[in-house]
Amino acid sequence: MNTHLHRLTPGEPADLAGRPTNGKAYHDDRKNAERRFHRLRKELIQWQRVLWAEGRQKLLIVLQAMDAGGKDGTSRALFQGVNPQGVNVTSFKVPSTRELAHDFLWRIHRDVPAAGMIGVFNRSQYEDVLVVRVHDLVPESVWRLRYRQINDFERLLSESGTRILKFYLHISKDEQRRRFQERIDQPDKNFKFSVDDLKKREEWSQYRAAYEEALTECSTEWAPWYIIPADQKWYRNLAIAEVVVATLEEMNPRFPTIDYDPQQVKID
Ligand code: ATP
Repeated sequence: MNTHLHRLTPGEPADLAGRPTNGKAYHDDRKNAERRFHRLRKELIQWQRVLWAEGRQKLLIVLQAMDAGGKDGTSRALFQGVNPQGVNVTSFKVPSTRELAHDFLWRIHRDVPAAGMIGVFNRSQYEDVLVVRVHDLVPESVWRLRYRQINDFERLLSESGTRILKFYLHISKDEQRRRFQERIDQPDKNFKFSVDDLKKREEWSQYRAAYEEALTECSTEWAPWYIIPADQKWYRNLAIAEVVVATLEEMNPRFPTIDYDPQQVKID
């Protein structure tokens, strides 16, 4: 798969309405896609070992989506089998009083991946131009500046040895309804649903407009957005795994050189 297929070229409008949510527009053989995904996952497990051993570079993966867009499912599928010590997943919730007393990037910066680590953000700094905008939590003059502030922040991370990949999981409103209904119908999924989700669904078009602008303003050469068709979980997983593994290949971590000759070491 061409790893630029879903990449939002910096400077181009996101045009969410013009981009399919249906993965079948790109891939029609589910079995084949699943086989390829399993191979990629094995490669990811190996790359993570070397990244960790090298202890120099960092990879940050940002996941954003409408509710039920599949952020949790994506990190579960992608990192199954990866050494949990090397992956840090952070879910950003409503900020605490302490967090709100600082600039909006304070809590984000605290959780970016350290050397050798893969960091996954389930929600992120982008909430500060999404929910904050839709719910009018700060004035436009404040949130509008944040596009530039986020770009500058991500540039700082990039210049400090962090590769950044941002995935918007693009689902249709119909697919969201189907997933909500499943959460209501299946007892073991009930906990994932809250009546607040319905309120957010009513705000679908405001969120869409906020996403449209955030993706357009913040897809940069150093931290590109990928708009992933996410109605089919198998396609979503494959498309993301292709980009993550190709990026790790480019980062090309190496096992560190050793300062002893293994032939000379004798253990009594
Ligand atoms: P998931 O994040 O996996 O979808 P969830 O929606 O059930 O789970 P919650 O416990 O409800 O997670 O917390 C996430 C909530 O926090 C979301 O409604 C999100 O919009 C909100 N949130 C995150 N960051 C901010 C922020 N900076 N300002 C205001 N609200 C925020």
